[in-house]
Amino acid sequence: MPWSFDIRSALLVGALLTTIIGGLLLIVARGFPTSYRASMGWWVAGTLLLPASFVLLAARASLPTAVGVVAANTLIAASLAAYAFAIECFHGLPRRRARLGLLVAAVALASAVLAQVPDSAPARLGAIVPLLALLGGVFWNLYASPRSRGLARHILGAMLLLAAAILLDRAITMFLAPAQLTGDFSLNAVQVLSYAVGSVLPVLASFGFLLMCTERSQRDLQYAARVDFLTECYNRRAIEELGSRAIAAARRHGMPLAVLVIDIDHFKRINDELGHAAGDEALTAAVARIRSMLRSEDMLGRMGGEEFIVLMPNTDSAASIVAGERIRESFSARPLPVDGAERQVTLSVGAAVLAPADRHFSQLLVRADRAMYAAKNAGRNLVISDGMSGWEGGAGYPE
Ligand code: GH3
Ligand code: MG
Ligand code: MG
Repeated sequence: MPWSFDIRSALLVGALLTTIIGGLLLIVARGFPTSYRASMGWWVAGTLLLPASFVLLAARASLPTAVGVVAANTLIAASLAAYAFAIECFHGLPRRRARLGLLVAAVALASAVLAQVPDSAPARLGAIVPLLALLGGVFWNLYASPRSRGLARHILGAMLLLAAAILLDRAITMFLAPAQLTGDFSLNAVQVLSYAVGSVLPVLASFGFLLMCTERSQRDLQYAARVDFLTECYNRRAIEELGSRAIAAARRHGMPLAVLVIDIDHFKRINDELGHAAGDEALTAAVARIRSMLRSEDMLGRMGGEEFIVLMPNTDSAASIVAGERIRESFSARPLPVDGAERQVTLSVGAAVLAPADRHFSQLLVRADRAMYAAKNAGRNLVISDGMSGWEGGAGYPE
């Protein structure tokens, strides 16, 4: 038996696949954080509009033209608008509902004219141009945002370009070989490209979109695993890892490394007097203040409660005391904005530098911590160095 390919069957397979992927996305979306819901919801809506359109196109010979052509084209346009909304939400871009709505209306209007005057070139162009504009809108949203990154978006980008190529092919054929754009699904290149390829594109595009969501949520999780949720500086795990790496780098390059342990004095009083929320605000303000005092290569982390760590690469003992003093002084000289008022807050700071015998970050940390407690015992609002001489650029580290 000879092979035969039927465009209508391809359209129906496309309808089935888009229904399945739309349904799958709907289920998978539940596992994503709520911040993804709007975006994924619009994408699912866009995908689930398509099967109806494909079925209408496949059955159009036995349907009134108004239904077969106008409804099918309008559904495709509405689906593209929903995709554009989805990417807008995904990237937090400003909404362009009115503009996209007008493009969908333009497709509907031009299709209605085409239904009356089947071979009207202006009507056909009138449908193709706004469809291209809608595709362009999705493409623009995909790449224009500063938040746009990752590899998955290129899958979606490629599908959009292919869809645009299909439309352009139809526009060009309209001028060069209008007889090919028939409604009888004859197997010419332009019809196969339009319907058979076009109906599978949304499946691949949806796959690309889902990968974009997965990529983003992985990045979010990696970020959350390293960053303190309240103050947005590094958390304990991240700063300890960075500390170990900084020690290895300091040893390798024969550079000094200093650590400051900073503890807010009498922090409990802020909580007791102003409440826990004001305490949180004070912590955030303190981090902003400390950060503004640091060099770009310094790293700030929260060890827990109201205790912070600063890693200072390429910093010797004298320089670390100067840096610690600068931070301490900035707090004692200027109150912090807390709870709509100003609150005087002081710090106790312990400084330590990497010593030749240090193998682990914890050893350096213990000395800085001890120095910080010495500052507490000596009356607070002080910087104390652990006094152990570090490696200041002279002899190398023992291996
Ligand atoms: P000292 O000068 O000896 O350091 O006194 P202190 O009051 O700062 O120290 P202490 O360790 O006794 O109290 C720390 C307080 O920090 C106790 C705790 O309620 C508060 N705290 C810890 N984590 C948080 C937080 O995330 N938010 C708020 N608001 N308070 C916190
Ligand atoms: Mg304290
Ligand atoms: Mg403390």
